[in-house]
Amino acid sequence: MFERLVVSPSNFAEKSRCWEGNTMVGDFERLAQEFVNPGAKLFYRVCGQQDARGRPHLHCEVKGSVEMICQRCLKPVEVRIETDRQLYLASSEEEAERLEATLVDLDIEVMVTGQSLDLAGLIEDEVLLGLPLVPMHEHCDMDSLTEI
Ligand SMILES: [Zn+2]
Repeated sequence: MFERLVVSPSNFAEKSRCWEGNTMVGDFERLAQEFVNPGAKLFYRVCGQQDARGRPHLHCEVKGSVEMICQRCLKPVEVRIETDRQLYLASSEEEAERLEATLVDLDIEVMVTGQSLDLAGLIEDEVLLGLPLVPMHEHCDMDSLTEI
């Protein structure tokens, strides 16, 4: 049974907690309508961590293979989801700016969070951000299309 988990992000990071599982992509409310095959499996893992300087961050991974509608031939096209990101936590925009200035690795992002964070919402954001704007086959199977 899939349950959304709302945590205190700073506590989650301090205690090095992890939330992970394998579930159907359709179990995520905001993803349920996105794909042709909502029964596809999605692996997700969010782990709280602190860096050497004690700064809290989340390591967020999502993996799966889903199908969307190809915008050229209108048949399902496989879209691989594979994200692996470090998100530093800041409690305000000001803190986020300060933090961003000290981070050397530009791949790392800073996320402003409140006292609570919906981890499933985070996963949904990660997946939605990674989707192609216009899903398309590299080579569509044009045989079944009528030539104009
Ligand atoms: Zn196509």
